[in-house]
Amino acid sequence: MTIDKILINHEDIRLELKKDLTKFTTMRLKATGDLITVTSVEGLKLCLKSLFENNLNYRILGMGANQLIPSTSDIPYLKLAIPFDKSYLSEVRDTYVLPASVTLSILSSHAVKFGLTGWEAFTGIPATLGGAVFMNAGTNLGEIGKLITKVYLIDKLGNEKIIEIGKDSFSYRSNNFLADGDFIYQVEMRHLGINNEISEVIKKYLDLRNRTQPLKEWTCGCVFKNNKGKRTCLAGKFIDILGLKGLTSNGMRISPKHANFMENVDSAAHEDVVALIKIIKDELHLQYGVEFETEVKL
Ligand SMILES: Cc1cc2nc3c(=O)[nH]c(=O)nc-3n(C[C@H](O)[C@H](O)[C@H](O)COP(=O)(O)OP(=O)(O)OC[C@H]3O[C@@H](n4cnc5c(N)ncnc54)[C@H](O)[C@@H]3O)c2cc1C
Repeated sequence: MTIDKILINHEDIRLELKKDLTKFTTMRLKATGDLITVTSVEGLKLCLKSLFENNLNYRILGMGANQLIPSTSDIPYLKLAIPFDKSYLSEVRDTYVLPASVTLSILSSHAVKFGLTGWEAFTGIPATLGGAVFMNAGTNLGEIGKLITKVYLIDKLGNEKIIEIGKDSFSYRSNNFLADGDFIYQVEMRHLGINNEISEVIKKYLDLRNRTQPLKEWTCGCVFKNNKGKRTCLAGKFIDILGLKGLTSNGMRISPKHANFMENVDSAAHEDVVALIKIIKDELHLQYGVEFETEVKL
């Protein structure tokens, strides 16, 4: 059975076949594919159950700030868009229960307004809450994992599950509790107290990011993980020392501003990023014998 035959007649599930997906990643890679947008938890459950029963695979899409979509793909992308009433953030709460599709920028505005300690950790990260939890997104100021208390998900069979978060639930840029196909639809998170100076910390950190990262270009953030086991090891520094900044191939450029970023400067596609990553990896291996794992999901 094909996807258009099974996902019909549900008001919370929208299927768009052969859609232009270029605008669905922050790197704006040229891509076309099937997109399923789901606007309720019931819709998500039904959708995952139907896909499973019909033996159809899927990929989960957040803001597309850390994944590259292939030029064409037979596997549909599944995106959550649960309506969110912003008045929920008009006051400080002890714990917050939020849809996974809410963006971190909305949460950062709330943190600035009320001085929520801990929330500075995700300053400036473009992401949905679900994508940030999946990745344990973070900055020099901390990681989002430390703020998460419960994760609500639907597994690939269509069953609901609630995960209680513990001290071993997250690692550097990854989680240790999601199984293949698990879709986070809701997150419970806390703050670590109130401190009115937090807005200044956030402002200063945003300034720093603006000065040091190519935030006006189409990128996917850091291409390589900076952490090798327990050691912090800056991939960008190695690439910079190799003199590769500015190297351009088929519309992809190693950022002249930050060597761990790649910029789509001329309608590049997935294969162009993969090719440039290979060039960098080969050079790093040849010159220094070091290997870096990619942070971006290829
Ligand atoms: C300019 C720029 C700066 C960045 N700076 C940082 C930074 O400082 N720190 C940092 O950590 N990252 C950074 N990133 C990377 C990116 O913002 C984070 O990795 C972010 O968490 C990705 O979230 P997303 O919603 O875009 O997820 P996507 O990129 O869409 O998906 C990422 C992964 O999460 C999975 N996923 C997404 N949503 C869900 C869900 N609801 N349930 C289950 N799985 C899901 C996807 O399948 C995929 O495997 C940056 C990116 C850009 C473009």
